[in-house]
Amino acid sequence: MIKKGMFFLIALLLFCAPFLGGSQSGGNNVMLGKAKVPNSVRRYEDMMREFTLQYEIEIYTELLLAMMMQESGGMSETTPDVMQSSESAGHPPNYFTNPRDSIEQAVKYFASLVDIAKQLKLNDVKFIVQAYNMGPGFLYFCEGKTSFNASYAKDYEVKMGGNYGDPDYVEHVFQYYEMPTASNHGFIIPTARNTMNERYGTVEDPIRGGTRMHNGIDLACSKDEAAWSIADGVVTDATFSSSYGYFVEVDHQNGYSSLYAHFNTLAVRAGDRVSSGQVVGYCGDTGFSAGYHLHLEIRLNGVRVDPEGYLPKLERSSIVTP
Ligand SMILES: [Zn+2]
Repeated sequence: MIKKGMFFLIALLLFCAPFLGGSQSGGNNVMLGKAKVPNSVRRYEDMMREFTLQYEIEIYTELLLAMMMQESGGMSETTPDVMQSSESAGHPPNYFTNPRDSIEQAVKYFASLVDIAKQLKLNDVKFIVQAYNMGPGFLYFCEGKTSFNASYAKDYEVKMGGNYGDPDYVEHVFQYYEMPTASNHGFIIPTARNTMNERYGTVEDPIRGGTRMHNGIDLACSKDEAAWSIADGVVTDATFSSSYGYFVEVDHQNGYSSLYAHFNTLAVRAGDRVSSGQVVGYCGDTGFSAGYHLHLEIRLNGVRVDPEGYLPKLERSSIVTP
């Protein structure tokens, strides 16, 4: 009995682990795009990445560059406090006299906001961006909200007595931020690398020999690299199966659905609403899998289609059979 109980406990822990991990790992609603900024801002990319790596928020590097554009107006020659982060460290405005101090404090401050947002289950990164401008109090003010709306920032400004920060800060930052290019079908590639390791259709079976039907495509994705939804939708499944391992299915509510398999860690739960580019899991090798990768399926009205025809152009790795 004890043995059986222990086994059950271990099985339960193993089953829960990916969900626990999911809530701890990186920000959830990260929109993966690129900052549209002039060289006066772009030249700080390496410095920004040095600190986002140090504070474990590398995924926000481009977003922080877009914020730098808003904070400095692209005038980094005459505005040494390029992130206008002096006040967040308790100093008067423009206390920092070199960009490096300004950037480090900004990243440290942003990372602290990411942590608070995670605790409050505020999964939309726009809450964090607005809090960069209005302070952590804005996050507590928004507790219980699901997706960001600029009216929350205006309400918070009124609560704080008016003339408090910039209630349109999110809109101002996102004018310098470009989402990844979508295909004609409105889908983006769900991984940072756009390399396909195995195509859809009849493929050779390296595990059992002969050929087999491959119902999706395999995309290059290393252990714990993020993978995100190819479009807006609602999570219909975020669970484990012996073949898919830890997998997520998203209904895009226009006849299409997408499925992401072999995750190490899940980042969403069934019922969650996700936006295009929102992280749904972290790549792994669970289920029927021979190595770390992301297996992606797309269905149209419940029927599997070849994802390659629905995504932006993919690179084919040398191991893809024609
Ligand atoms: Zn596959």
